[in-house]
Amino acid sequence: MNTKRMLTALLLFAAITTSVLPVRVAAQGRQPSPVAPRREVVAAVVQEAYDKFKNETKGKNADYIPYLAQVDSKLFGIAIVTTDNQVLTKGDVTFSFSIQSISKVYTMALAMEELGPNKVFEKVGSEPTGRPFNSPVAVVDMKTHTGNPLVNAGAIATTSLISGKDANEKWIKILDFYSRAAGEKLSLIDEVYKSEAATNTGNKALSMLLAKYDRIYADPFESVDIYTKQCSVGVNAAQLARMGATLANNGINPATGEQVIKAEDIPHILSTMTMAGLYDGSGGWAWNVGLPAKSGVGGGIVAIVPGKAAIAVFAPPLDEAGNSVKAQEVIDYVSEKLHYNLYSPASVGWK
Ligand code: GLN
Repeated sequence: MNTKRMLTALLLFAAITTSVLPVRVAAQGRQPSPVAPRREVVAAVVQEAYDKFKNETKGKNADYIPYLAQVDSKLFGIAIVTTDNQVLTKGDVTFSFSIQSISKVYTMALAMEELGPNKVFEKVGSEPTGRPFNSPVAVVDMKTHTGNPLVNAGAIATTSLISGKDANEKWIKILDFYSRAAGEKLSLIDEVYKSEAATNTGNKALSMLLAKYDRIYADPFESVDIYTKQCSVGVNAAQLARMGATLANNGINPATGEQVIKAEDIPHILSTMTMAGLYDGSGGWAWNVGLPAKSGVGGGIVAIVPGKAAIAVFAPPLDEAGNSVKAQEVIDYVSEKLHYNLYSPASVGWK
């Protein structure tokens, strides 16, 4: 090959790599943290956790939403998606369950995309309530009334912040945003929506209380209806782990390379998850596990390990606070073994 040809070949190579790879190369935070555990280690721990907890029978399916009471309580799936998009799964990871309260994290993110974090903080706040997730007492008692975007009152207020010409446009925008965080198209589980819409008098009451305090920013019942739809979005454990990995990866979906959530919003989201992600169980969770996480009464929990991975576990039986028992046990075990606890020196490689 003469020099001219070689030069042309080189230029061609450079042109191809920069045009084919821009999404991958441009994405920041794609490389996992230098202290992230290796794939084989993660896979082994997932297997161990699955075997250790598969026969756990504590807890009870949620039954205040009739649909949830009849979901098979033996379903159990674990998924980890790393920030470089390695996927490790075990058990029932293709079963689609309702995302429920985990949706609140992503509507909070969307509200911040639209309004910026300061407005969301001002209009909703970020104070833990120390009360059950659906507490009307917290709305009355708290100075902000809304508490934070991860309890029902604050979540309904957050949903009411999403712009759109009508309810349908707002809902489609929310669903599309969740789908981008998951890296695939998500959809509503209609039966869950109908079941919850027929029984959600408590959430309607919360919305009216918020209206009394001027802390809801669109029609209260319309906002509850959109909120009920967002809670009825179906995800499987693998999709949920990828939604979590988008948060762990600085807002970039590790599968698609899309910057779904602004990097500067991530600390606000994760800190809120730490304080309120498991409701009145959040303090004990932070003490034991040390990871921002969010639970849903459908039986899912996702925990975020910034710069490393997200773990999603699905197992329907819940504890008193409304958090999946098995999911908490698995995430606790896995994060202990993999040194994921953010407050532990081992998480930065100091063993
Ligand atoms: N849709 C449920 C509700 O509003 C969500 C609650 C939850 O998952 N904790 O009651």
